[in-house]
Amino acid sequence: MDTFGVIGPGAVGSVIGESLHTSGYQVTFLGRKAGEVYIERASASETAAFPVEAISEAETVFDYLFITVKGTQLEGIIPYLDKLTHENTVCILCQNGYGQLDKFHIPNAYQAVVYISGQKKEKVVTHFRDRILILPENPVTKKLKEGIAASNLDIRLSPDYRYEVWYKLLVNLAINSVTALSRNTALILEEEKIQHLCKRLIQEGIAIAAAEEIHFQEGITEEIMRIYAGYPPYMGTSMYYDIIAGKTMETAYIQGYLYEKSQTYGLDTPCLDAVYSLLLASEMRG
Ligand code: NDP
Repeated sequence: MDTFGVIGPGAVGSVIGESLHTSGYQVTFLGRKAGEVYIERASASETAAFPVEAISEAETVFDYLFITVKGTQLEGIIPYLDKLTHENTVCILCQNGYGQLDKFHIPNAYQAVVYISGQKKEKVVTHFRDRILILPENPVTKKLKEGIAASNLDIRLSPDYRYEVWYKLLVNLAINSVTALSRNTALILEEEKIQHLCKRLIQEGIAIAAAEEIHFQEGITEEIMRIYAGYPPYMGTSMYYDIIAGKTMETAYIQGYLYEKSQTYGLDTPCLDAVYSLLLASEMRG
């Protein structure tokens, strides 16, 4: 039987681990310290509990490793990857943004576009919705999908994976930037100037995507604005929650990734350049 490990028992990792565990797969949750993680849902009165092993103590070698720490936390887990993997281990990096795979030296490593919505506070994960991971379509990911078909983890293999990556980048770009920089929730979308800034950011992102040969259909900006309009006003974003909590944001992998591409292609992206500079400045400490 294949062995599954989840490094980073947070919002995304715990839901992935739970999906596998409840369907009888052999899964280990690996955190900084040994303990437990709890998952709760508004729709269910019961809270599910799962044991967490300290990654430093773990001795299992896994066939599949889901890496679900934040992009900013990757450096902390890389030293452990050698002991947790064999030559055919498949690593699935489950993070927002793009460009982090370059940090790995594992041949079978893929980044998933993640649609699992949740939030971790202390030891409790609140799972809001979805269990979807989008991966590039190839024999390795096909085997993974077939291997965990009995679980409710929804692995989607996309023949147009890069489109999916860029779509999520565009969705994250505008709303994460404006909520983090204003230190305010989605209620700021009621302000027309913020809507206008979001549209400009998305359009700049579309231009960068086009330089990368990824072409979005007409009306994509309006589509993403409609997604934002569906957010409840009290909802934050991951970068908003990080800045409020004084944690390092995943700027490097979202705005930073896009900024570097914009520079490479010599594009004019004034809104992106401004928000990226301000996000960097917001994390400077004396
Ligand atoms: P969380 O902060 O909830 O989870 C990260 C987990 O990794 C935490 O439990 C953290 O532990 C653990 N961790 C950090 N460093 C280590 C380490 N060195 N060893 C072991 N465990 C470690 O993050 P999310 O699950 O929210 O986000 C994960 C990724 O998924 C991010 O890239 C995010 O942008 C993306 N994403 C998140 C979504 C969401 O709704 N939450 C939606 C879509 C994508 P500790 O608490 O001790 O720091």
